[in-house]
Amino acid sequence: MLDEYQKKQPIIYKILKNAVNKDKPSHAYLFETNGFYDSYNLIMAFAKALLCPNKYTNEEKCQNCHQCHVIDHGNFPEIKTIKPEGLWIKKEELQSLQAEFSKKAIIGNKKIYIIKEADKLNKQAANSILKFLEEPEEGIIAILMTENIYNVLETIRSRCQILTLKEDSQTENVNDTLSKIGQILYEKKELTEEEQEKIEKILKFIKHYETNHLDTLLYTQKLWHDYIKTKEDLEKAFNLMILFYKDLLNYLNNLKIEIFDSYEPLIKEIALKNTLNDVCYKINILTEFKEKIKYNANTLLLMDKLIITLERRD
Ligand SMILES: [Zn+2]
Repeated sequence: MLDEYQKKQPIIYKILKNAVNKDKPSHAYLFETNGFYDSYNLIMAFAKALLCPNKYTNEEKCQNCHQCHVIDHGNFPEIKTIKPEGLWIKKEELQSLQAEFSKKAIIGNKKIYIIKEADKLNKQAANSILKFLEEPEEGIIAILMTENIYNVLETIRSRCQILTLKEDSQTENVNDTLSKIGQILYEKKELTEEEQEKIEKILKFIKHYETNHLDTLLYTQKLWHDYIKTKEDLEKAFNLMILFYKDLLNYLNNLKIEIFDSYEPLIKEIALKNTLNDVCYKINILTEFKEKIKYNANTLLLMDKLIITLERRD
């Protein structure tokens, strides 16, 4: 939701919200991300607000909106994200995007393309999108992202509205994340064998994900199916995952591991693969997805979507 960024990025939020309300977006934006941990999701929320027939603001946070659903799954043909492969963004990729986008919009009246790391557009690639930026076609919106606008070619910079995100404060981010977790009740007690087994299964899933990332998709069924049968099971599993990452956050902050103290080697191992901001991001996504459980009938699909979203972080 775009509204989630009202506090974190007040100025940018105002500009974007205004563009959505008036339905008058610029034809090209250049976002200077400034290390803001959630920049791509902010941009996706903006894109959704522009494309969604409910302006992404109906009561259920658009959870049952078909269009937002398709966008979340990355299957929406009118949004394309391009990122560098290797050192540079490939010219061919931009050309095929142009060919595709020059056809008229099929759903709705807008098409949006997002270019990550726009500083990795070399001259050749830049030339192929300059025409797009110079003579904007009705309904096509370009969103470029970079850590530092001065690394982006001047010819591109001068044709975009530049939006600089507020720098990320790690402490603010951690506090904000912790406030989102709220109260998850967890009683440390003697566990039955079955309960213990479930915890092991969930930790195995986390370890698997932290090692294999997107490839975990191939195993979701195997890892979850026998253990997670009802929505209640799934909610418990989410709580455990959130608590695990909270312990990871504690560990990274040199605080006491509260719940998973008997799994310290695992915490240490996973801590090596994550920064504080990574962990905050994961907790935020897990908390967000926990909310979705009640609207989603298919738990396996939800888990797949979770893994894809976790991987979306730059
Ligand atoms: Zn929607």
